[in-house]
Amino acid sequence: MKALVKTRKGVGHIEIRDVPEPQPGPGQVKIKIAACGVCGTDIHVRHDTFPYWPPVILGHELAGTVVARGADCRYFQEGDRVVAEPHTKACGQCYLCRTGNIQICPEKRSPGWGIDGAMTEYICYPEKLLHRIPDTMTWDQAVMVEPTANAVGDVLERTGVVAGDFVVVQGPGPIGLLAAMAARAAGAREVVIIGTPGDVPLRLARARKLGFTQLIDIGQTDPVKAVLERTDGLGADVVVECSGAPKAIPVTVDLVRKMGKIGIIGLTGRRKVELDWDKLLFKVVTMHFHLSTAYTFWDRTIHLIASGQLPAERLITHRASLDDWERVFDDIENLKALKAVLMP
Ligand SMILES: [Zn+2]
Ligand SMILES: [Zn+2]
Repeated sequence: MKALVKTRKGVGHIEIRDVPEPQPGPGQVKIKIAACGVCGTDIHVRHDTFPYWPPVILGHELAGTVVARGADCRYFQEGDRVVAEPHTKACGQCYLCRTGNIQICPEKRSPGWGIDGAMTEYICYPEKLLHRIPDTMTWDQAVMVEPTANAVGDVLERTGVVAGDFVVVQGPGPIGLLAAMAARAAGAREVVIIGTPGDVPLRLARARKLGFTQLIDIGQTDPVKAVLERTDGLGADVVVECSGAPKAIPVTVDLVRKMGKIGIIGLTGRRKVELDWDKLLFKVVTMHFHLSTAYTFWDRTIHLIASGQLPAERLITHRASLDDWERVFDDIENLKALKAVLMP
């Protein structure tokens, strides 16, 4: 079968290869891949800036149909349409696994970098990590479940936006826009989205298409001033930081109100960030750091997307065949794509 493979360590070294079709082991099902989203992780593996074990098939944002079952499978049948949590190789025995946090088990090695991923025709996958999707859900919607679960988990379950909140989202990449949609689905009274001049042509334009009207380009408008004006000088109830920019992160402290909450999703790429610690303390701010996705995030996300309350599929700008991967990866890197989906 055809697969997009990172062949060895270093920058680049990605090619389409013909690889043997996998057979399901005990507890695994074989999934025919319908589509696989391209994630920042895939781009990082391309550039050798994320851990990976080559040769490895890329891709973890998969959606597909179960076509065969290995021994001891109990919950899924041939014909089930599924999406998959990427928490493969979590040990099941450590403190984190046993307290229900398999997504941050130190042994975890996800498809696409730790084990063979889904930018191919078939994958064999532990059925215990799958979620069945509704018949009405399109593949476009299904392929968005994994990234959306990150935003939903942070905004709704960890940081806890509630109806009536004034929410600011910093960084309008795919995760930022999904976070904004999650806040809106939770009933936020206003969602302000902050971006840079580089975000204006595609990302902020897409935000406007999605119905968000409070868009701030920091090249034109001082975001703190604008947010204070709209909140009677109080500040935002919740700030969601999705930019990962060391210059932007300290601004969250000025955007949030006293006793407010900051949710953090954006990674800085190990760059240091300077925070006004005393200001955070005097404002009595709660900071919620976020990484990866738990079972309930998936469950909630599937329902939110399927019901139309969170139209995540509207972030897809590119649908391409695997053979076209290079153009798609380049477009993502050059901010010409928001979310891209590859089909085998
Ligand atoms: Zn992802
Ligand atoms: Zn573990």
